[in-house]
Amino acid sequence: MTVKTRFAPSPTGYLHVGGARTALYSWLYAKHNKGEFVLRIEDTDLERNSQEAVDAIMEGMEWLGLEWNEGPYFQTQRFDRYNEMVDVLLAQDKAYKCYASKELLDEVRAEQEANKEMARYDANHPKIKAANDAAKDGDPCVIRFRNPKEGSVVFDDQIRGRIEISNSQMDDLIIRRTDGSPTYNFCVVVDDWDMEITHVIRGEDHINNTPRQINIYEALGAPVPTFAHCAMILGDDGAKLSKRHGAVSVMQYRDMGYLPEALNNYLVRLGWSHGDQEIFSQEEMIEFFSLNAISKSASAFNTDKLLWLNNHYIKTSEPEYVAKHLQWHLDQQALNIENGPAITEVIKLVGERCNTLVELAEQIRYFYEDFAEFEAGAAKKHLRGVAKEPLEVALAKVEAIEEWTTENLHQMIADVCADLEIGMGKIGMPLRVAVTGGGQSPSVDAVMQLIGKERCVARIKMALLSVKQTHNYEC
Ligand code: GLU
Repeated sequence: MTVKTRFAPSPTGYLHVGGARTALYSWLYAKHNKGEFVLRIEDTDLERNSQEAVDAIMEGMEWLGLEWNEGPYFQTQRFDRYNEMVDVLLAQDKAYKCYASKELLDEVRAEQEANKEMARYDANHPKIKAANDAAKDGDPCVIRFRNPKEGSVVFDDQIRGRIEISNSQMDDLIIRRTDGSPTYNFCVVVDDWDMEITHVIRGEDHINNTPRQINIYEALGAPVPTFAHCAMILGDDGAKLSKRHGAVSVMQYRDMGYLPEALNNYLVRLGWSHGDQEIFSQEEMIEFFSLNAISKSASAFNTDKLLWLNNHYIKTSEPEYVAKHLQWHLDQQALNIENGPAITEVIKLVGERCNTLVELAEQIRYFYEDFAEFEAGAAKKHLRGVAKEPLEVALAKVEAIEEWTTENLHQMIADVCADLEIGMGKIGMPLRVAVTGGGQSPSVDAVMQLIGKERCVARIKMALLSVKQTHNYEC
């Protein structure tokens, strides 16, 4: 048997991180079993669905690297198939026409509530029976599924264990509305059957649908898939994760400078574990993933941990991979990197200092663009009169360097210290402010090496001008 899973979002907005986690689990389960992963768009709610939302979901999936083997299928394109199956059930008397009007059903419900009975559709209620008996062919009607009256539905949820629901708690579900459109629970079953889905992995908000769906599979003579219902993701206040807790859309995480690898690693651990391992390469996730190691209890979203993972992936991923994702942020921040060092070298040097790609893009501008002035605070502190001589000596030595290597730049700084009998800080910081414009950067020799000689010389000269102006003013 080939394992086949699916992700079946309703396109009402962006790809939510909760949905992304469900998609990731389904994808991992398929990959782990060398199976297939299907994308199905459940777009039957015409009022709430939109093409933009379909595009947003696919963009999120693609960004996360959750490629699908089949689909996307669209439920709106399969109405004929659903109706064909409704007709099969009708012909077999496993479904029936119900002519009771909405008003009548409301009346019966009010009566049941008044009698403290469970409010539900009851085909044997005298009023409903009378309405059905009096109806003529062609009168407006819905089609209801004849849910079994006896026994119970039992299934072995891969996460939550054995679940049993008595049929007496389920009424006869509408499977086709008066306007001829099939309803949600029916479409899902026909789809999962037609698409040969073996494992349905979805949020536990669907768990109440499962027994109803199982009865429909059985009525259709379709194999019942295995189910796994994942617990919810909560915000830091214990409520279901939503917009008011911060970013919930996958693409917002892209915008905030996360790498897809970091978000995937974060999401896989949010509710699944393999010992106490925190960091998983994609290969490891695929190798170790199993449904029964998914937690039954809800998990709380923790942004600090996600940031920590992001820093880890910025630091340890191939610089080419980081560069590919950084490019979007460079475009956003209008930073052109053609005129400067190889971006992969800059990433190797600066990446480990950054938790996000937004920070990384912000911190590397000086490698590619000259600046018109120094950061005020840094200049005030480090481009003072005392920096004049060290910078002049450094400038002369920098101009004399023939082979522009980090080692020679390191030696140059050591020589300035020795010549002037000063400590490293007296030249290191002024030089840093001179060449980067600010007071924070990785090791100044390595930074200068990447910035290049011509730019460094020009910037030290500019710093000396600034020192002299301040110095004159101070005198
Ligand atoms: N379309 C449903 C949703 O977006 C998912 C249904 C399912 O996975 O069975 O919540």
